[in-house]
Amino acid sequence: MGHMSSGSQAAKSPMSVSTALLAAEAACRARGVQFTQVRKLVLRILCGAPQPLGAYDVLNRMERELDRRLSPPTVYRALDFLLAQRLISKLESRNAFVPCAHPDHTHACVFFICENCGASEEIEDRRLEQLFDRQANSLGFRINKRVLEIEGLCATCLGSAPLKSTDAL
Ligand SMILES: [Zn+2]
Ligand SMILES: [Zn+2]
Repeated sequence: MGHMSSGSQAAKSPMSVSTALLAAEAACRARGVQFTQVRKLVLRILCGAPQPLGAYDVLNRMERELDRRLSPPTVYRALDFLLAQRLISKLESRNAFVPCAHPDHTHACVFFICENCGASEEIEDRRLEQLFDRQANSLGFRINKRVLEIEGLCATCLGSAPLKSTDAL
């Protein structure tokens, strides 16, 4: 099956997809949970997509790839598994799913989501996590999920080049 080019700069390279799959496989093995073919396919589709995908987008792409019909619960169960293993995150504002950029450890997933093209970029910042932990401690609150969604316009849509991270420091 041909590889579809979306023409989007946000499209992930096949290299990063396979890297993400290998990391997920290693994480599942270390945790003693099964990384089934269906779960793997769902993750591969999410990793290869330039934007967060809704459950039905994932279902459609899986059916196209496997060339057969699937039941929605099959996809939902796989998504639930990947969420529970923190291999993906759910963007509540979009009702869509994105792969986690750092599946090897627990962390706060902070997403910058473009309101125009829908692209999302995940960042990781220990300072934010420490801030959340401190605030949670002072509230006596136990954090179960840390997903932050920040909306705006991406550099591509703004037509501007992003600052180098060294410039931003
Ligand atoms: Zn993450
Ligand atoms: Zn954009």
